[in-house]
Amino acid sequence: MNDYKHTTLNRLLFPSTRYRLVLSGIIILMLVAAYVFVYFTGGTRNGYLHVMYIPVILGGILYGWKGGIFLGIFGGVILGPLMPLNTETMEMQAFYSWTMRLVFFSLSGGLVGFMYETIRAKVRQVTSLYTHDLTTGIKTFNYYWQNNDPSDKRADKVSISFHINNYESLLVLLGSSEYATLLENIHSRIQGFLPEDSDIYLVDRRLFWIDTSKESFKAIRDDFARIMEEEVIYSESVPLYLDFSIGVSIPDTDKTASERFKESDIAALHAKKNGLTFAVYHDEHARDTLLIERLGALPSALENEEFFLVYQPIIDLKTDKVSDVEALIRWRKNGRVLTPDEFIPLAEETRLIDFITEWVLEAVLKDHLRFEKDFKHIGLAINVSYRNLFNATLIEKMTTMIKNAKLEPDKIHIEMTESTLMQNRTTTQVFLSSFRSEGVQTILDDFGTGYSSLSCLRDLPVDTVKIDREFTMNMHGDSSMYDMIATIIELSHKLGLKVIAEGVEDVEVLNELKTLGCDFVQGYYYSKPKEIEDLIKYIRNQKA
Ligand code: C2E
Ligand code: CA
Ligand code: CA
Repeated sequence: MNDYKHTTLNRLLFPSTRYRLVLSGIIILMLVAAYVFVYFTGGTRNGYLHVMYIPVILGGILYGWKGGIFLGIFGGVILGPLMPLNTETMEMQAFYSWTMRLVFFSLSGGLVGFMYETIRAKVRQVTSLYTHDLTTGIKTFNYYWQNNDPSDKRADKVSISFHINNYESLLVLLGSSEYATLLENIHSRIQGFLPEDSDIYLVDRRLFWIDTSKESFKAIRDDFARIMEEEVIYSESVPLYLDFSIGVSIPDTDKTASERFKESDIAALHAKKNGLTFAVYHDEHARDTLLIERLGALPSALENEEFFLVYQPIIDLKTDKVSDVEALIRWRKNGRVLTPDEFIPLAEETRLIDFITEWVLEAVLKDHLRFEKDFKHIGLAINVSYRNLFNATLIEKMTTMIKNAKLEPDKIHIEMTESTLMQNRTTTQVFLSSFRSEGVQTILDDFGTGYSSLSCLRDLPVDTVKIDREFTMNMHGDSSMYDMIATIIELSHKLGLKVIAEGVEDVEVLNELKTLGCDFVQGYYYSKPKEIEDLIKYIRNQKA
């Protein structure tokens, strides 16, 4: 990238002042040399005067068409009236002869000069196109690479990444051209308080990069986030809420610009995830990069069959036997087993989550075939992500898969968390209804964490409520927790819903839940999640 600056062509097109001075000196020398050469080879009669074209053309290249013409005239004169035709006889040239030559010299110099000027203008235009954002004219990252050595390592620099988090909603709200105005406003605001030695670049439409020194960073550090938050940024007089995160890298060893940028970018991502406006890069944040790499490995994990399911029994408290099981995904990666917390949130940021949910359903349907005749009645629950709600094709695929499977559709249970419901109530309702109308059972998972009002349970297309394990695990010795669980159970029953309590780890809690009339429990007290073979053994043992 950077090579561009140092090519020979570029040196000729855009010579530095020093280079220009050197070339000017060479041109003067050439003019003198041409005169001397022609004179001592006997004058213009010998026809060596073409050497004059070299300084004239060089002059055109260096000084444009005006310079070319000037040198042409100058060359024409010193090889014209100032130069004899024959130095032995001192016979002078005919007037028309040297004037014609002068015209040719000037034309050549002028033409070359004009061509070089045109090329220079075009190159400047093209360069500007890729070093500046088209709509806003803000310098892009390429501008930096164009003017700096990428292998240059510095320890006195600070890199700041400015992420616009609500980019999508701003874009929807403003439209593309007004969004560009907003970008300009942000740019000029940051530019406004940046010290001399600092600069700001647009990396993409949601990310600015600021290159500054440690010294300058000290001066702006406290103001930065405050100034950005202080006033609402206006775009065509619409007050907007700008949600942003700032990541900073203050390296203590020599780092290249791209290393510094990567670090500040990771820090900004960290800030965003943790709801902060500001984060300084720390080695621990590199974990986020690890996660990104993990995300890269996700698609092949599906192909390479690195996912597998474990099942946790759900016990019917009336019979004390397994009534259902919940499928929980695992990822066997490089000899380690990753739990869903380590990759589901990542997958949820992409469409991969749809493939995962589809894969889980397929695997569950296959595993059900392994159930023996006398426990075919056991239901299988799968977890569905809120991101799945928006994919109509997936929903259709899943319902078709269930219809075509060799089981009663009510043996499949769909678990959807309460927080999903809070995020998008109508879509969740439509989603759950489309499964329920096929006979599939629906469960509202992690109930109690989403702050939905209990009354909304009435209108929901759900069959069962699953009380979150945070409640269950803390119910013993916490009377308000206990009361809350009692209320949830009572109300659910009144609305005709079943209740599962998850996270049951000890007998005290189990007994309390029994007293409260809870229908089902799930937890380590009975069993940890098991692979299918062990699950089958577990159910078989219970039967015996
Ligand atoms: P969840 O749906 O609430 O699943 C129950 C989690 O609680 C499981 O963690 C389970 O191992 C754990 N658990 C069960 N009994 C106990 C107990 O007595 N004590 C304690 N401390 N924990 C218990 P796991 O397998 O790590 O799953 C975590 C979450 O990941 C799940 O929470 C679920 O939201 C999500 N998840 C799991 N599998 C899938 C999947 O296939 N698709 C999607 N979208 N999400 C999944
Ligand atoms: Ca669940
Ligand atoms: Ca749960």
